[in-house]
Amino acid sequence: MPTMQPSRYALRTVADASLIIRQHTPLLEPETIDLADALGRVLATDVVADLDMPPFPSTLVDGYAVIASDPHPRRRVLTEITAGTADDLLIQLGTAARIMTGAPVPVGADAVIMVEHTQESDGYVTPLRPVRSGDNVRPVGLDMARGQVVLADGTVVGPTEIGLLATVGQTRLVVRRRPVVAVLSTGDELIEPDEPLRPGAIRDSNRRALLASIHEAGAVPLSLGTARDDEAVQEERIRAGLAQADALVTSGGVSVGSRDLVKPILERLGTVHFGRVSIKPGKPFTFATVEGRLAFGLPGFPVSSLVCFEVFVRPALLRMQGHPRPDRPEVRVILDGPVQPSPDRTEYQRVVITWRDGRLVARTTGIQVSSRLLSMAGANGLIKIEPGTAEIPAGATVAALLTGPLETWG
Ligand code: AMP
Ligand code: MG
Repeated sequence: MPTMQPSRYALRTVADASLIIRQHTPLLEPETIDLADALGRVLATDVVADLDMPPFPSTLVDGYAVIASDPHPRRRVLTEITAGTADDLLIQLGTAARIMTGAPVPVGADAVIMVEHTQESDGYVTPLRPVRSGDNVRPVGLDMARGQVVLADGTVVGPTEIGLLATVGQTRLVVRRRPVVAVLSTGDELIEPDEPLRPGAIRDSNRRALLASIHEAGAVPLSLGTARDDEAVQEERIRAGLAQADALVTSGGVSVGSRDLVKPILERLGTVHFGRVSIKPGKPFTFATVEGRLAFGLPGFPVSSLVCFEVFVRPALLRMQGHPRPDRPEVRVILDGPVQPSPDRTEYQRVVITWRDGRLVARTTGIQVSSRLLSMAGANGLIKIEPGTAEIPAGATVAALLTGPLETWG
């Protein structure tokens, strides 16, 4: 029977562990995709405008295209110009054209007067207000100029960027490839969520939560299922996973129990860069590389696995995609109630952060034990409590990672 030994891995600080991961995280190569698939992707080239916008002088309003300095009180209405048309109409003194929003302002005209400020009868229009040259006309290139960089390399594509890409006619774009990330749950106790419960069984919640977290981080999740606590079985699955993926995330099996097999397997397959971190929850969190691929060994308790994903894995997956802001914003928050620090580890406690009276206030989600996934439900932040012995009182200010949208209050 295998025996239990204290961990021989050096204890890393959170900052050191993050740095080591960063040093081994590759920037993935570019690929070309359709605009329809671009949401959330990161551009790998600058995008340049291929035209002036607007490409022709265009009217901002419905009204009449006129010459502003025309002394005629009434002008003959030559025709009507609607958006999408183009003809060689010429506006001369004494004439005007009815024009609809977005239509090209005809040659000769230098202003558009709003229909509300005119009167038309018998084929003549009378301006009821003074007109200045340029009124209601969008000149060529007002919105963007041909040759201008409209989106820079490293931009995350959102709805606005998709609109800009369509404006400049870019229907194929060069973006960073998304990492494929394989997820393996380990543990003899694990059953599928729809399997009948049996004594000693635990439903495998981590794999589902991690697959979702990977998807949310813009990567492509690949489920490797559940592996029982057998070294040969786990090694085979880890090998298979790494052969198909850019990164591997395992759940469970990294502590010092007799059935914790992931670390020795990673040692055999590649290089374990660290096997312990001074973090609560998640002390046995392990990071290895295997032939350039990243392997993250997350602890099995549900909160430990998701907090380690948040703090260590998510930033790495975003970096691989060239994301400009891989780290969550760190803010200063005021504690709503007292917090007891861990004596020796940096603790990430789950909180709800609210914008209240011009300040960010953090309220605990309740009991913070690492098995209690409910402590993450509804949380939009992780307060970062440095090791210590003295209780931190309500009203004190601490650092927090903002992991979701702020709540507002009052
Ligand atoms: P381990 O890190 O393998 O020692 O697992 C610690 C504890 O985490 C186990 O006893 C389970 O209660 C829980 N656990 C492990 N894996 C999972 C999982 N995939 N889903 C939910 N809970 C798990
Ligand atoms: Mg286990």
